[in-house]
Amino acid sequence: ARRPIVGGNWKCNPKSKKDLDGLIANIQACDTSKCDVYVCPSMLHIDYCSDKFTNGAMVTPQNCNFTGCGAFTGESAVEQMQDMGITNVLIGHSERRGEFNITPMETNSSLADKLRYILDAGMTCVFCIGEPKSIREQGLQAVLLEMDKQLTLVYRMLDPEKVVIAYEPVWAIGTGLTATPEDAQATHAGIRKLISDRVSPSVADAIRIQYGGSASAKNAPELSKMPDIDGFLVGGASLKPEFKEIVDAIS
Ligand code: 13P
Repeated sequence: ARRPIVGGNWKCNPKSKKDLDGLIANIQACDTSKCDVYVCPSMLHIDYCSDKFTNGAMVTPQNCNFTGCGAFTGESAVEQMQDMGITNVLIGHSERRGEFNITPMETNSSLADKLRYILDAGMTCVFCIGEPKSIREQGLQAVLLEMDKQLTLVYRMLDPEKVVIAYEPVWAIGTGLTATPEDAQATHAGIRKLISDRVSPSVADAIRIQYGGSASAKNAPELSKMPDIDGFLVGGASLKPEFKEIVDAIS
């Protein structure tokens, strides 16, 4: 059976180090005996958070470069993270893939380079994928075609021990609109089938796929009952004590 995993993505929050202590306490309150937990602070707060958790919660940067250290202004290298004891990185979030009218920074190709770099360095990775509303409106087949596109260059790197997939439909992020448990399950099962066809049934069976997009204490119990949903990547609710209830719902 796949061990559940829940992540809290704080995005560009909070504003102050004082508020950060409150958020850290939320994560530290989580019971990690039956569920892996990770948290994604902003790059500025990574070092501050890096030694704060005694419950095994993994501090997970929201991005990294694919070039290592050097003349790359504004970037962060995996080697610097490892020096702070960081072992897990998140990449490919839709807010960095250029959705939400933010300048496109990531492409499927740059993300494949990043994943190669992270795995070569011996780290683990949360790899985000997800479709915009315009594709969801065309139905499940169109969604799975897009997921296949976003995974094409990384299929061969999908080691279930090293990579977690976070499926986050763009239209559900920060909108309060969640995929219904049935829709989310159908998409997760479809992604697993793609991995089974393109890589192998055993990798498809073992790899963990999280759901993200307005996950909350209210919808987590129903979503987590679905056989192909292995946990959540939580945005807004990770800034509240509610995060612990989401972890409790799945463990
Ligand atoms: P919300 O939970 O705020 O919709 O954000 C989801 C997300 O983007 C997590 O990475």
